Amino acid sequence: MEDIESHKLRLAIFDWLQQCTPANNYVMDWAALSKGFIYNGEIVTLIGARGIWKPRQFSDYPISITSVRQSMYADEFIGEDILSYSYRGSDVNHPDNVGLRNAMQHAIPLIYFHQIVKGKYMAAWPVYVVGDEPDKLKFTISAESNEVLLNENMLSEPAAIYRRKYATREVLIRLHQGSFRERVLLAYKDHCAMCHLKHRELLDAAHIIPDSQGGSPEISNGLSLCKIHHAAYDQNIIGISPDYQIEVREDILHEVDGPMLKHGIQEINKTKLRLPKTKIHQPRKEWLDVRYKAFRSA
Ligand SMILES: [Zn+2]
Repeated sequence: MEDIESHKLRLAIFDWLQQCTPANNYVMDWAALSKGFIYNGEIVTLIGARGIWKPRQFSDYPISITSVRQSMYADEFIGEDILSYSYRGSDVNHPDNVGLRNAMQHAIPLIYFHQIVKGKYMAAWPVYVVGDEPDKLKFTISAESNEVLLNENMLSEPAAIYRRKYATREVLIRLHQGSFRERVLLAYKDHCAMCHLKHRELLDAAHIIPDSQGGSPEISNGLSLCKIHHAAYDQNIIGISPDYQIEVREDILHEVDGPMLKHGIQEINKTKLRLPKTKIHQPRKEWLDVRYKAFRSA
């Protein structure tokens, strides 16, 4: 259990975030975060150069954890709102790692900052450390606390924190989708797998098996597709066979329309998907097969 002064400060920080971040889509500047929050006339910094941050006003537990873009592969979403967070270094007993482990044991709510671009961070809180894997040097972070622990430590205020969990989930899901797009586009070197268009701003990371049907956030469940081909794939206008052949639906092939239909859709019929070089990033054949069957029966 956290001492009452630290606990009050933690809740005051959450209130402050609640006042200033939703209007900015939960995005904050490094400058504002490192300048900190004023509490009882003192500056409390919310983010530090290190990933796991404990300002001096807190005695036992950190206030925030941060993922930076470079560590995108290290800090990865393992579910819609569950994140795997790397230890600081490889020393299991480094004080920062011990701090997070203690936060897990006492269900202490934390802030998760996710760097979107240099100097900008998306904030999600409260998040909880719910797992620790010393052999992998990773913690598991979730919007949901371990219920049992939370009940044990229930003070008067946490009900408000608890109610916020839906908003937290939403932010994490958005981050998860954002990071899925980043990883998929990177694997495909920023081009559409069907037409090779290279305009990043016109590219999406399409799911082969959708999130809603239990599709995983792995690159091999994704396809980098331009907006038109993404929509055409989702609408079963275009299908992809398990051996990576693009097929345009029969009725569409006979339609007569402008250049987009002719060059953009009909002419890619029976061509091959352009895939990432790395084998494990290529679309999983069994997942393509599930989607292909749906396309054939459309
Ligand atoms: Zn395309």
